[in-house]
Amino acid sequence: MKKHNFSAGPAILPAPVLKEAAKGVANYLGSGLSLIEMSHRGPEFTAVIEEATALTKELLNITPDSGYQVLWLSGGASTQFFMAPMNLLDAGETAAYIDTGTWANKAIKEAKAFGNVEVLASSKEQNYAFIPKGFKVPKHAKYLHLTSNNTIFGTQYQRIPKSPVPIVCDMSSDFLSRPVEISNYGLIYAGAQKNLGPAGTTVVIVRENLLGKVNRYIPTMLDYRTFIKEHSMYNTPPVFPIYVSMLTLRWIKKTGGLKAMHRRNKTKANLLYTEIDTNPLFAGTAAREDRSLMNACFVMAKGYETLEKDFLKETEANGMIGLKGHRSVGGFRASIYNAMPKNSVQALVDLMRDFAVRKG
Ligand SMILES: *Cc1c(COP(=O)(O)O)cnc(C)c1O
Repeated sequence: MKKHNFSAGPAILPAPVLKEAAKGVANYLGSGLSLIEMSHRGPEFTAVIEEATALTKELLNITPDSGYQVLWLSGGASTQFFMAPMNLLDAGETAAYIDTGTWANKAIKEAKAFGNVEVLASSKEQNYAFIPKGFKVPKHAKYLHLTSNNTIFGTQYQRIPKSPVPIVCDMSSDFLSRPVEISNYGLIYAGAQKNLGPAGTTVVIVRENLLGKVNRYIPTMLDYRTFIKEHSMYNTPPVFPIYVSMLTLRWIKKTGGLKAMHRRNKTKANLLYTEIDTNPLFAGTAAREDRSLMNACFVMAKGYETLEKDFLKETEANGMIGLKGHRSVGGFRASIYNAMPKNSVQALVDLMRDFAVRKG
């Protein structure tokens, strides 16, 4: 039986993408070779990475004259925590960060190795249950760093804060889940394994004129300009993750692009949050106005805490995978990324309802 995959990451991918990827691994377009045993400089893979880049630009409305470059790196989003400041922040300069949880904290820690870090706001004292607002971004900052969706705590910026300086954004867990105004950003990075493809590639979108302004030596493989100059092929790129990401990008385009994706994501999240809010046995953990469309965090309501293990067991018995909440929040987390079908969310909602009738 096919499972309902609510895992936070590596996460669900569209069924037609997996089917096509399997074919490409066995015998790429009838060539008699697997895509992953071909030269990355050959015409087959060159076409794949060019299409992945072109589709990313098309979906995000990145025009050729806008100065943005789309790059395919490895090392995960965690490498971007230090690669971004290494390339953008000189010693003695200041970068502004917003502390919205575990991933933001890791980004802050790494940036401190390269310059001064001002943490403008934090929601730590409420266990990261909301997105801080009303902070002022200082003009002397080199950039403002945000984590657009907080995978662990289930919060998401619904509006991007006003910033007089370029925004550097970790979009790992909501990349291509909604339209984005690219001109608001200086740099976007996203590890593929939440919403785009298999683990192993990280997409970076950077405004080229921000680069080349720091004085330190940047190792070749950590310099964004290397990837720009060599079209992400200075060395062997992660060919399979890029291939699957390209197939996902095709799927997003075919299913209507980012507006349609956002509409479907809102429908799915509403379905689940409505159940969390109205079912007396469950309670949401994140502030309503900041709730994530990608990761819904919830717990057993007051008085029903002892039922947590029972409910988790029932989800598993019903083919639902990955619903145990992160240890720093507890309870449950339903990751409902782009590829999650509405009927899987409906299955979870039906089980919650049925559970309340039996145990409430
Ligand atoms: C998963 C995640 C990361 C870490 O990604 P890796 O690719 O494992 O380094 C960073 N930021 C966010 C928001 C994430 O969800």
